[in-house]
Amino acid sequence: MSEAELRARIREAAELIVESKKNVALTGAGISVESGIPDFRGPNGLWKRYGEHVGHISFFFTNPGEFWKFALEVAKVIFAARPNPAHYALAELEKMGKLHCIITQNIDGLHQKAGSKNVIEIHGTAWRLVCLQCGTKFPVEEIASKLMSKGFTIPRCLKCEGILKPDTVFFGERLPEEELKIAISESMSCDLFMVVGSSLVVYPAASLPGIAKSHGAKTILVNLERTAMDEMFDVVIYGKAGEILPKIVEEVKKMM
Ligand code: NAD
Repeated sequence: MSEAELRARIREAAELIVESKKNVALTGAGISVESGIPDFRGPNGLWKRYGEHVGHISFFFTNPGEFWKFALEVAKVIFAARPNPAHYALAELEKMGKLHCIITQNIDGLHQKAGSKNVIEIHGTAWRLVCLQCGTKFPVEEIASKLMSKGFTIPRCLKCEGILKPDTVFFGERLPEEELKIAISESMSCDLFMVVGSSLVVYPAASLPGIAKSHGAKTILVNLERTAMDEMFDVVIYGKAGEILPKIVEEVKKMM
């Protein structure tokens, strides 16, 4: 994409945002890559290093110890991460009244850390653990000292000693019902739908831009690489979210 073309597309995206009455954003792992958290399928994605099987619920049940070794390595990165300019740009759009909500596939909590208020976490959060036996949920801080202690293997429930799992959606698990319901209803009722940093291959999240489009919304995609759904978007911008989103917000400010 040439510089001139990039500038033109950023302007087009900003125009759509200014004209919109209800703008909804769907974010994926790509938006947090510039915060140091690897995505799954991007150029340095986690699946290239570990294999997709570790994200499946059956792997967790069969090898909880091995899963937790992988999870702790990722968790240390997630807990130390800070929001990047892309997270702050979306938080600023919300403050300006130009973003209704963020539907995120991410589990890192970085949108909230950046100041976004209306965030729907459809794949759960790494900041909570759930007991597979009694269903009790624990903020990660309550278990943290055990998690990080020497010789640690598998975290167990403080009430019933059941095995704890991150309160995130694994492959093979259902999405949280309430969050999915809200995400679908927001997608149906918005007039602009922006996707940032998602390969759009994980369903049902990947169906949300299509739901918005089929209800008449305009659509914007900001992603480093092509996705399987690029043709469906009114404006497609290839690039790093941390560089593109602040430029879009700058344009929006000028236009308003
Ligand atoms: P994905 O890994 O399938 O796709 C990420 C996309 O982001 C890729 O197409 C890549 O080209 C793009 N990308 C990489 N760096 C970018 C950047 N700087 N700016 C813009 N785009 C960039 O991710 P997905 O679509 O979210 O689906 C994978 C699943 O992985 C999700 O369900 C999510 O729960 C989980 N996940 C979350 C995190 C996190 O919380 N940060 C990290 C890894 C995976």
